This record gives sequence, C-alpha cells and structure tokens, in this order.
Amino acid sequence: MPRGRRRSVSIKKKLAIKHFFFFMALSVTFITMVLVLREERIKEHLNAEKEIAATAFDIIVDALKSQADTVFYNQVQVPEITALFSEAEAASPQRRSEIREALYTKLLPVYENIQLNHLKQLHFHLKNNDSFLRFHRPEKFGDNLSDVRSTVAYVNRTQQPLKGFEEGRIFNGYRFVYPLFDGNRHIGSVELSVSVKTILEKFQKAMGTNVDFMMREDVVRSKVFENEQQNYVPSTLFKGYMNEKEILPLRNPETTELIEEYLAGHDEAQNELLGDETYSLMAPFGKAIHVVTFLPLKNVVSKKTVGYFVLDRTHRDLKYVFMQPVLLIIVGVALLALLFYLLCRAEDQKQKIESERYRLHSMLELQKNIVILSDGTLLEYANKLFFDTLGYDTLTSFLLKHACICELFMEDDRYFHLGKVKEGENWLEIIRSLPATQRMVAFVDVKGAVRIFTVAVSYVDEHGYIAAFTDISLTMNQQSKLEEKASRDRLTGAYNREFLETNLLAIEHAAKVKGKRLGVVMMDIDHFKNVNDTFGHGCGDDVLKRFVEIVRETVRQEDYLVRWGGEEFLLLTMVDSQENVSRITEKVRNHISMENFPQVGRVTASFGIACHCEGSTFAETVTKADIALYEAKASGRNCLAFGEAC
Ligand code: GH3
Ligand code: MG
Ligand code: MG
Repeated sequence: MPRGRRRSVSIKKKLAIKHFFFFMALSVTFITMVLVLREERIKEHLNAEKEIAATAFDIIVDALKSQADTVFYNQVQVPEITALFSEAEAASPQRRSEIREALYTKLLPVYENIQLNHLKQLHFHLKNNDSFLRFHRPEKFGDNLSDVRSTVAYVNRTQQPLKGFEEGRIFNGYRFVYPLFDGNRHIGSVELSVSVKTILEKFQKAMGTNVDFMMREDVVRSKVFENEQQNYVPSTLFKGYMNEKEILPLRNPETTELIEEYLAGHDEAQNELLGDETYSLMAPFGKAIHVVTFLPLKNVVSKKTVGYFVLDRTHRDLKYVFMQPVLLIIVGVALLALLFYLLCRAEDQKQKIESERYRLHSMLELQKNIVILSDGTLLEYANKLFFDTLGYDTLTSFLLKHACICELFMEDDRYFHLGKVKEGENWLEIIRSLPATQRMVAFVDVKGAVRIFTVAVSYVDEHGYIAAFTDISLTMNQQSKLEEKASRDRLTGAYNREFLETNLLAIEHAAKVKGKRLGVVMMDIDHFKNVNDTFGHGCGDDVLKRFVEIVRETVRQEDYLVRWGGEEFLLLTMVDSQENVSRITEKVRNHISMENFPQVGRVTASFGIACHCEGSTFAETVTKADIALYEAKASGRNCLAFGEAC
C-alpha cells in the first residue's frame, strides 16, 4: 500500500476509535441517566405505595376501633356487667364459675353480633392478668397472661386503654384493650380484637390487593398454646417464618411465585424485605407490574416486629416505568449510533476532500506552468512556481504588495494588459474570450528579466477561475532571433529588401504616428569595381562589411539600413526636415571618406537624398533618391545630391 494511503487509513482508524469512544461515553452517560431517572421514578412510586399501605392500614384499624369502642362503652362498661364482674376477683371458684356463666349468657348476643362486624374476640381479664372469660374458648380460663400478653398487663397496670397488634395464645390480632371500672374501682380489663384475616380482607376490598401474612416462628413457638400451633405452617418463602392456615385461602399464588422469583434474583433479599420499616418492591409479573409491600407488624408494647402483612398490588399503568426506559435506551442508543455513523462518514468525506485538495495542490505544485486560482479580484491560490518567478515566499506577502497578478502585466500592445480591460470587466473573463494568439502577457520576473507567457483560463465555478501561465519567453526570443536573421543580409548584416517589403507599411505608419517624415538616402560606393579588380573579391566583401559598420555606427539605432543591391544601400530615417537627413548623410559620407579600409585604403561613396512626400508611393521616393544619386555620381562622386522636394 502506498505510504499516503497507509497514513490516511491509520488516521481514519484513529478517528473512528475517537468517535467510537465518544459514542460509548455518550451512550453510557445516556443509559445511566435514563436508569437513574427510572430508579428515581420507581422510588417515588414505591414511596407512594408505602404511604398508601400505611394510610389504608390506619383507616381500617380506626374504623374497627370505632366499632370496638361502641361495643365496649355501650355494652360492656355498663353497670349490669361491671357489677357482676367486680365480684369475680374476690369470689370463690364456684362463684367465679357462676359469674362467668352469667357474663357469658348476658354477653353472648353481643359477642355473636360483633362477629358480624368483623370483631373476633371478647376476652375478660382480672386485674392480675388472669384470663377470666374467652368468648372464643369459654372453656379455657384461669391462665395468667402477664408474660404472654403484654397489652393486658399494660392496661391493668396503667388503667389506660391500648390499641395495637399483639400475638396471642390462640389467635394473633389487632387488639383494643380497655380497663374495666366498677364506678371508680379498677376491676380488670376487657379485650376486643380483630383477626389478621379480617384486616387483610379489608385491605383486599379497599385496595384490590393480594394479601399474605406471616409471623416469626420463634414468636409463634413461644406465645401460642402448643395445641393451637397446628394453626400455623412454616413459610415456604422465608426461613424462620410461619403462615396462619386461616389466611392461606386469601393468598394469590402469583404473589408467592413473584416473591420466590425476587428472592431467587436477589441475595440478602430476606433481610431487605423483612426489616423494621415498610418495604416495597416493584417487579414485572405476567402482564402487569406488581408492587409488593411488606408492612411490619410490631408488638404494640415491646415495639418489636413480630410479623408482616404482604400486600401485592398490580399496576398495569406502571408498565411504562419499566418499558419506557428500555424504549428510550433503544431509541437513544440507535440515534447515537446514527450520529456516530454520520460523524464517521462526514470525517471520511472531509478526509477525501482534503486528500483530493492535497493531490490537486501537489499536482499544481509540480506544474511547469504558473497556476493561480482567482475570481479576477482576489487571488485565492498560487503555486510554488508563481512565488519563485515573482520572488515572494507566501501568498500573504505577495498580497501585501499587489492585489492581483494582472497589475504586473507590461503595457506592451503586443500582449494583453489591463489597458485592454474596461472598467467593471473581469480581466480573466476578457483574456479567456481572446483568440489563442492574443492570450499573451509579459511581466518582469524577480531577476528583472521580461518574461512572456501564454495564458489559459478555465472557469471553475461562480467563485473563480483557474489560470495557467505558460512561459514562452525562450520561444519568443528564438522566434525574433530567427526573424531577425531572415531579414538581414548575410554578408553585411544590413536589412535585406524582403525586410523592407514586409515592414514598409509599419515603418511608414510609425513615422506618421510619431509626426515625423521618412528620409530616404540611396548610397553607392564609388568605383567599387576597381576595388574588386585591384584587391580581389574577398577584399571587396570586407570593404562592404566595414562600410555597413561605419554607416550603422553613424546613424541612430532606430534608423533602417537596407542593402539595396551590390554596393548600393538604402537608409531610412525618421526626421523632422530634409536638413536633418542631409546632416546625417554628410556625417556618413565624412566617416566613410575618413576611414582607412584595410589593404584598400581610402574609399568614398555618393549619396542621393529624398524625403517621402504624402500622396506619393515609396517607389516614387526611391526613384527620386536614385536620380539624386545619379546626379551625385555625375558631380564627381563622394558627395550628396537632393531629389525633388515635396
Ligand atoms: P561607380 O562609381 O559608377 O558606381 O562605379 P562602380 O565601379 O562602383 O560601379 P559598377 O556598377 O560598375 O560596379 C559595381 C561592382 O560591384 C560590380 C560588382 O562586381 C561589384 N559587386 C557587386 N556585388 C558585390 C559583392 O557582393 N562583393 C564584391 N566583392 N563585389 C560586388
Ligand atoms: Mg552601383
Ligand atoms: Mg558603385
């Protein structure tokens, strides 16, 4: 793989890795945020559920207490009953039996009635906490409850009523215990209680929950009569807990299954669920979300937790709390993945564009032409050759001195320059529209040399053009050298007649533009034949060469000396008057005549002068000069003669 490609692949990889980490970091942040929010919402729901459970419990208990109060104050704490029971403490066993029976008979209708109102027990205790009469087990009495029924002991001690949960010798219940007075005399206590089952049924009814109840096994073992312990079975869910058989029919197997699942998925779940505070958990089960609340039941006197109500409510509407984050995460991560993909692609595109640009610039740098990118006003880019040619390091340093390369174009009409661009026109557009032969510019390079370029302009887009300058200086010089060679006489170096024919019009035009007259001098070496004859043809050639040198040294550089034929020459000079021509010609004649030609010695020449008149042809002027020359020869040679004036 080429080095450049390898480099770009490794950059791509690095970028992809960078973006991937960015994507991962964003995804993790997003997922964490969603999960934290979800936890928050779940917590809020669970707190609400705990409050609902506690409030419902209070309402249920308060309603039952009202019933208990009504029964106690209207039917138990009445003279008929207290008078009878007041005797019991001091009575003989026989008398106690009679009192028990009398109480039982009197209050049996009341007891039967409270059953209908969900109250379960009616239990009389003596002041010393001896059980006197259990309406639910009339045959069981006389046992002292001081150690097992702290509520009874508490009420007999304080003579204050008390409500609260307490486990029992037979049943567990929510108990309302009242001190019993005969007048002002404390004679014992009475308990009305509600079974756990009743409270659970009320929960079921009020809140539409599945319910369960469990008791600590050690409490059951220590408090309940041994023969009554058959009413309990060990809990299949929690170690060290028992369920009341009576409550088993209320249970929904779904709740048991759900808790089983939860326990299997959470270590230490038992400790978490079965604490001293109400605990709620949220878990999906079946088609709904369940909120299971563990409501601790505390012994009202010892304040120790002895069992739990388990309330299981289904919430179809809570499903979104579970599902929404999952959906959010899926959609969010998908969007992030899309972003990641787009980022990678954009980066890839950028890389491609940059490498294209790099390639283009490299190509342009390698060009043997000067290349610029410009909109005609602003120079946006120029290649190295541009800077090398003009002697600048950077585009900025060039732009500090010039706004445009076009400013440097020489105002030479053979080439394109800004003088040929009207105001408001774009020079690049103008040069582009010109034929190839006119798309040439000249400017001076860093070494001070005039350089000539052909310019090729391409339209790129509305922002600019690309212009390539091809250096043709060398070609142009060679061309002019060739042209020069072709227009010169080989022997003497004077212009030949072809040159004159080609350039006559331009010369005439130039003289006119300059406001000058064209002076024509026909010159002929005197007795040249003798030179040849005397010194040989070669020597004659040398005389011709030296003759031309002397004339060219004498006249101005812009004058044209043409070899007309043999030893005859024509001088064209731009002058203000005929005097100028005669002065120049005289100077030439003098220099020739003064020259000591090698071997030959003195040589002279004769001159015929004519000025080109407006309206006459060049040939006519030459004829005039020729005639004048003839006259000069006739006048003895080595002299000047003038043709007819205009
Ligand atoms: P006049 O003063 O009347 O002009 O006399 P002349 O001898 O110069 O004139 P003529 O026309 O009789 O002779 C010109 C001579 O110039 C004849 C010819 O051989 C010679 N000639 C013409 N071209 C060349 C040349 O290229 N080299 C040499 N060596 N001689 C040339
Ligand atoms: Mg001649
Ligand atoms: Mg001659």
